[in-house]
Parts: sequence; C-alpha cells; structure tokens
Amino acid sequence: MTPISVPPAHDARPTPVQLAMFRTQLEEQRQFRLEQLEELRALDPGHLSEVTDALAAGARAAMHDVRTALHRMDTGSYGTCTDCGALLAIERLEVLPQVGQCLPCRREASVSAER
Ligand SMILES: [Zn+2]
Repeated sequence: MTPISVPPAHDARPTPVQLAMFRTQLEEQRQFRLEQLEELRALDPGHLSEVTDALAAGARAAMHDVRTALHRMDTGSYGTCTDCGALLAIERLEVLPQVGQCLPCRREASVSAER
C-alpha cells in the first residue's frame, strides 16, 4: 500500500488546476455583473430607485473585487492576503474566489469601516 500524501489545503497555494477553475469562476462573475449593470443602465429613469441604486453599487463593488482578483492572478499574488501576505484557505477561495484578505484582516477592515 502506498500512502498518498495530500498537503493540507490550508497551507498550500492554489494548484494550476485550481487557479484555472477560480479564473473561470471570476470571469463568469465579471460577465454576470457586466450584464447586471447594463440592465440597470437600460432602465427607464422613472424606474430608478434606492433599490436600483443599491443594486448598482453592489454590482460595481463586486466587479471591483473580481477585477482585482484577476489582476492578482496575472501578477502571481493570487491566493495570498493583500494586507499581511498570509496564504488564503483554498476552501474560502472555492466559495469566494474574489476574496483578497485573510479572515483576521477582513475582520479588522470591516471594524474600521464601521467607525
Ligand atoms: Zn491578512
């Protein structure tokens, strides 16, 4: 019996296969947000409201996250925290491939944003 050693996912960088998968997800999300923003732009001004404003703001923020994640992928820093450089858990990237911060940094950022 040959034991297969699998490195623990939480201290491993994404493999090229995983990176390709995350890129596909990010590109799908970018496309989705682009379409969403276009639909919102195409709305009759009479239909604009706080809800459509909030939707557009959310879509723009999501687009920004997706774009910067794709940029990090191009520059080779994808998968590490943008603040402290710690490796991000693959399981988190699988759920949210656009995340750029580890959990402690994320928490700190949201706390200071509330101040
Ligand atoms: Zn961090």
